[in-house]
Amino acid sequence: MSKLIHDRNQCIHCGACVSVCPEFFSEQDKIILNGGTYDADDRGSLEITEDQIPTAQSSVDVCPVACIHIEK
Ligand code: SF4
Repeated sequence: MSKLIHDRNQCIHCGACVSVCPEFFSEQDKIILNGGTYDADDRGSLEITEDQIPTAQSSVDVCPVACIHIEK
């Protein structure tokens, strides 16, 4: 199982990840990693399957501040 990571403390709330990858990201008052958990440093984590990695990678690729990562 891999993890999709969102370092929200670096996020500039541009919404690109929500547009490209609504399966994993949504926009409320903050950008939310859907179903993810955020720690005290505002670092979000969501377990993803191997099949979901290509979709998750699209959000990594579009983020202008590189605050989305995949941990394998
Ligand atoms: S693409 Fe990156 S900077 Fe933009 S809202 Fe998503 S996580 Fe934040």
